[in-house]
Amino acid sequence: MKSIFVTSPSLPPIDEYVEELKDIWRSKLLTNQGPKYKQLEDEVRSLLGAKHVALFSNGHLSLQIALRSMGLDGGEVITTPFTFASTTQAIVGCGLTPVFCDIEPRTMTIDAEKIRPLISKNTRAILAVHVYGLPCNVAAIQAIADEYGLKVIYDAAHAFGESYMGRPIGTFGDISMFSFHATKSFNTVEGGCLAFSEEGLYERVCALRQFGSYGPYAYSFVGTNAKMSEFHAAMGICNLRHLNEYIAQRKEAFGEYMRRLEGLDGISSIQYPEALVPNYSYFPVVIDEKKFGSTRDDVAKILADSGIYARKYFYPLTSSFECYKGKFDVQDTPIARYISERVLCLPMYAGLSQANVEEIATVLRGCTR
Ligand SMILES: *Cc1c(COP(=O)(O)O)cnc(C)c1O
Repeated sequence: MKSIFVTSPSLPPIDEYVEELKDIWRSKLLTNQGPKYKQLEDEVRSLLGAKHVALFSNGHLSLQIALRSMGLDGGEVITTPFTFASTTQAIVGCGLTPVFCDIEPRTMTIDAEKIRPLISKNTRAILAVHVYGLPCNVAAIQAIADEYGLKVIYDAAHAFGESYMGRPIGTFGDISMFSFHATKSFNTVEGGCLAFSEEGLYERVCALRQFGSYGPYAYSFVGTNAKMSEFHAAMGICNLRHLNEYIAQRKEAFGEYMRRLEGLDGISSIQYPEALVPNYSYFPVVIDEKKFGSTRDDVAKILADSGIYARKYFYPLTSSFECYKGKFDVQDTPIARYISERVLCLPMYAGLSQANVEEIATVLRGCTR
């Protein structure tokens, strides 16, 4: 029996990539924003419908640069603990203090209703996550940010190519970060980008990307190295050509899951809102052990015993990470805690076949007592 992993990267036909490599061999430009970088940046900007886009070596450094570019110099950032490690690590890594807000049970994104009581005189920004590509309550978040003069950053790592309420998803808030990691719906092997509209910010994030330098021999501030190489950009150019096919394949797998799991008591899957054009990045289910008859951990084990590797995304909550112990106060977020103890991401990728989904659903149905 062949194993089914939670994800499998989308790869373009190798000949297409080799064609791109030939250009690189001719130009001998391997990195530092060469022609492949510029082409991909243009293409991503138009796909995201953003005024400005800058590309980086990965999503995590993109997020850190977004935070640094705002000159927040200490203070608190209101965020969600129900996310990948990167979101919270970026905040702490920038010398900021995360303040954890609970999530909405339906979208699993930050609960805008619960933000206000967490605001203090030290609050600088809200860092929210469009988790699994489900959009945050962008209108309510913006209203709060406007009222208190806070910056809004979206971790849109899961939301590449989506639009919400007729607007490209990266156009909400001050800055949005997208990840192009191998496991994401669009990949450059490793990579990421920031999308924003503020004038002057492009130069700042590019300088932060390149050792804090605006130009030769001039170092204006302490930066990092987060450049995207020409090889990574070339991969992005190829994968972007096929993005619509990849999303269509994911959509098919998603539909098959919905049909196969329909009426299964104790299993709830995500509901995309009407106003969203989704990218079908993930297929998380929340398992209510009382109704279903097995716990999430049991289900994960039974699936693994059948060669199906689902993942407990996102568990544990980032707020409970060992590395933060004793560093700052941790707010209790009971809904996030409830979900993180019961959520399981089932395999989802472009190329996951209907037969694969049928097999997964059959094992899952067998877990009920
Ligand atoms: C993948 C991911 C990131 C980080 O992206 P990398 O490109 O892997 O650095 C950040 N936030 C979330 C929610 C992610 O899933």
